[in-house]
Amino acid sequence: MPVPLPSPSEHERYSRQILFPGIGASGQQRLGDASVAIVGVGATGAATASLLARAGVGQLTLIDRDIVETSNLQRQILFDEADAAAATPKAEAARAKIAQFNSSIQVHAQIADLVPGNVHDLLRGAHLILDCTDNFETRYLLNDYAVEQGKPWIYAAAIGAYAATMNIIPAPADEATACLACLFPAPPAGPVETCDTSGILGSAVNLAASIQSAEALKLLTGQPQLMRRTLLSFDLWTSQRSEIRASAPDPACTVCQQRRFVHLAGSARPHITLCGRNSVQIHEHHRPLSLAELHQRLQPQAEIESLRSNPLLLRFRRGAHQITVFPDGRALIQGTTDPAVARSLYARFIGS
Ligand SMILES: [Zn+2]
Repeated sequence: MPVPLPSPSEHERYSRQILFPGIGASGQQRLGDASVAIVGVGATGAATASLLARAGVGQLTLIDRDIVETSNLQRQILFDEADAAAATPKAEAARAKIAQFNSSIQVHAQIADLVPGNVHDLLRGAHLILDCTDNFETRYLLNDYAVEQGKPWIYAAAIGAYAATMNIIPAPADEATACLACLFPAPPAGPVETCDTSGILGSAVNLAASIQSAEALKLLTGQPQLMRRTLLSFDLWTSQRSEIRASAPDPACTVCQQRRFVHLAGSARPHITLCGRNSVQIHEHHRPLSLAELHQRLQPQAEIESLRSNPLLLRFRRGAHQITVFPDGRALIQGTTDPAVARSLYARFIGS
C-alpha cells in the first residue's frame, strides 16, 4: 500500500534521517504515526525521549514519578538548573523541553508511578514500551503486561560505566523472542547496585539510550526482523562486551509460556527507596488530594518551612526532611531511608 509522504516542512526537518536508507520517506511517515511509551524519564529515559522526539515519533507518553534535582543534571539531558530549582516533575519538565525543539509531535506527561492498578490505562495506546526505569519490580510488571498484551518492549539499564539492553518481542508466537523471565525467572535477590552505590557515567546512559532508540526505530519503521535477539551488555571503561542469546522463549517460562502474570496481579509496593538520593516514596494512599486545601491546612503550622505549591505538587520542609506531595496522594520524603519515619511524617502532615 503506498504511504503518503511527509509535508515539505516535515521533510526538511527530517531530511538527514530520510536520506538514511534504513528509514527513507516511508519510514519517516511510519514514525509520525507511531506511539511510544517511555517508562521512567531519568537519565536513560530523557536521552531516549530526546532521540525519539527529534526523530519524529508522533506520540510519546512519558511516565515518571519523580522530580528534577541538582544531582540529575550530570546526565539527564532534558533538564536544566531552573527545573531543579523549581523541583519540576520530570515528566512535565521533559514535555516542556521537547516542545521547544519539536512542537509537531504530541507528548503526554504522566506524573505517576507505574503500578499494577494503572499499567493498563497508562500503556493502552502505545505500540512499543521502552523501559527506562531503575528498578526490577517495574521491569517485571512491564514484562507481564507486554506478554499479556503481545506488545514489544525494550529493556535498558545503565550503572557505573556499564550499559545493558534487550528487545522483548512476544508476538507473533512463532517469531517471539525470549521474555525477561525466560532469562531471569525472578528479580535479583538482595541488594541491587544503584546510582547511589555505584555512581554512573553519562556516557553509559547515552549508550543504553542510543541502542534502545535505534532498535525502536527498526520496529516502528516495520523492520522487526532487523532487531537484535540477544541481551547485550557493554562496559565503556573496560571495553568488555557480552551477549546472551535470547532468540526464542524458554519452554519452561512461567510468564510467556504458562501465562502466569504474578506481577500484574500483585498489589503496589507500600514504599520505595528511590535511586539517586536519600528518600522514600509513599504511594499506598491512592486517593486524590486537593493541594490547595492541604496548603491552607499546613500554612499555620510553625514547624513547617518553605511551603509552596502549584497544580502539579506541594512541597515543604520540616526539620531535616523535605516533603513533596502530588495530587494523586503520592509523596516523596527526602532526608531519610527509613520507611517508618516517612510513614509517620506522611500520617502527621498529609493524613493517614
Ligand atoms: Zn518467557
